[in-house]
Amino acid sequence: MNPIPYKVIRSDRKSIALVIDNKANLVVRAPHKIKDKEIAHFVDKKKHWIIEKQHQASFFREKYTPLLMESGESILYLGDVYALRSADVSEIKISSTNILIPKNYGKEDIVIWMKKEASNLLNERVAKYAGLMSTTYGSVKMSEAKARWGSCSAKNNLNFAWRLIMCPIAVIDYVVVHELSHVAYKNHSSSFWARVKTFSPHYKKQRDWLKVNRNLMEIV
Ligand SMILES: [Zn+2]
Repeated sequence: MNPIPYKVIRSDRKSIALVIDNKANLVVRAPHKIKDKEIAHFVDKKKHWIIEKQHQASFFREKYTPLLMESGESILYLGDVYALRSADVSEIKISSTNILIPKNYGKEDIVIWMKKEASNLLNERVAKYAGLMSTTYGSVKMSEAKARWGSCSAKNNLNFAWRLIMCPIAVIDYVVVHELSHVAYKNHSSSFWARVKTFSPHYKKQRDWLKVNRNLMEIV
C-alpha cells in the first residue's frame, strides 16, 4: 500500500492529532519537537482508521446536496432521519418517522419551527448542565452560524447554532458542556478538556459525529 499523503501543521500542542478535512485530506497536527520520521510512523500505524475516515468524508461529499426543506425530503431531527410531508395539519407535528407540515408552509416556516425547537431544547440542556457543573452563565441565544456550533463570550453569554436540533442529543449535550466549560476556561487547554470529559465522557465521538455529518445539516 502506498503511503497516505498528508500535510503537517506544527504548533505548541503536546501530542499528534489526525484530522480528515471535508475534502477527505489528511492533516496532521503535531508538536514542534516531534521528528518527521515519527510523524510518518504514527500515520502508518493509524492507516486503517485514516482510510475509513477518508471514505466516509468522500461519501458524504458526493451525497451532499443542501436541504431544500420541501415535502418528500429526508432531514435529521435529534439525530434520526424523518421525511418532511405536507399534510392536513394546522401546525408542524411529528408523527412516527414523518414531520408533518401544514400545506401553506414554506421553507422559512419550517426553519422558524426548527429554531424554536432548538431554543427550547438548548435552554433546557444548558440549565441542566449548568446545575450539574455548578456554573453560571449569561444569556442563551440561537445563531445562524454554519461553521461554529457554539460560542461563549467574555460575559459568558452563550450562542448555539440552531442547526444543532438536527444532531443526536449526546452531540448537543457535548456542545453545551463545551461552551459551559468556557465559563471557567477561556481557552482549549488540557484543564479545559479535562472538564469537558468529566461531563461529556465520550466527547471525542460526538466531535467526530459533527465533523462527519455537518454536510447533512446544510440548508439552501
Ligand atoms: Zn471552544
